[in-house]
Amino acid sequence: MKKQFAVIGLGNFGFYLATGLFQKGHEVLGIDINPRQVQEIRDKVSRAVIADATDPQALKELELEEMDAVVVSIGSVLNSSILATLNVKDMGVKRVVAKAVSDAHGRILQKIGADEIYFPEKDLALAATQRLDNPNVLDYLPFMEGYSIVQLAPPATFVGKNLIELDLINRLGIQVIAVTETVPENVVMIPTGRFIVKESDLLVLLGPDKALAGLKEKT
Ligand code: ADP
Repeated sequence: MKKQFAVIGLGNFGFYLATGLFQKGHEVLGIDINPRQVQEIRDKVSRAVIADATDPQALKELELEEMDAVVVSIGSVLNSSILATLNVKDMGVKRVVAKAVSDAHGRILQKIGADEIYFPEKDLALAATQRLDNPNVLDYLPFMEGYSIVQLAPPATFVGKNLIELDLINRLGIQVIAVTETVPENVVMIPTGRFIVKESDLLVLLGPDKALAGLKEKT
């Protein structure tokens, strides 16, 4: 379903988030104090405006309270991130998501009422740690003659699809018996067909050695 989002702060994280949501078919308003950032994103989102998010008056005209979610992606200037989040919260926006660059920053954002807080660098570092620590095939457990259980990172073509769409059982005779989620750490045992594979996941698969080896080559 098409949703309405606003992204305040179009630096690295904000830029990729805003353009990514737009590519998924959502309506996206990009906001930045810097005209260069606004110019750069103009034809990659629904609308892009120059505004200072620390100024409640400037935000008022943008009708942010109508949005499904507003993301504050100002990291480096702590003061601006805090004021922008507070302003958006005060306007009665339903879902306020804010980016934090440190744990202390995250705690402040939580105190002023951000509904969700992202720590992009920390989360990516945790995912990278997991990947570097564990090569693609983590465990290789012979099961029966010709069959094994392996744990591997999903090939790029799997990411964003659910298990019904992937249909590994009919296509390759492979059963997904568990998924190890790395961000945050969690194990989903016997995932249903609705489970959507994320890049940071590790799939635990049971299947014929040949089919598993074929998948491994694609990761
Ligand atoms: P990243 O690390 O994701 O690039 P930055 O914190 O460096 O994030 O980028 C922040 C973005 O937010 C910049 O494009 C900057 O121009 C913008 N920004 C900073 N202060 C404000 C503000 N008061 N109102 C709107 N945008 C702002």
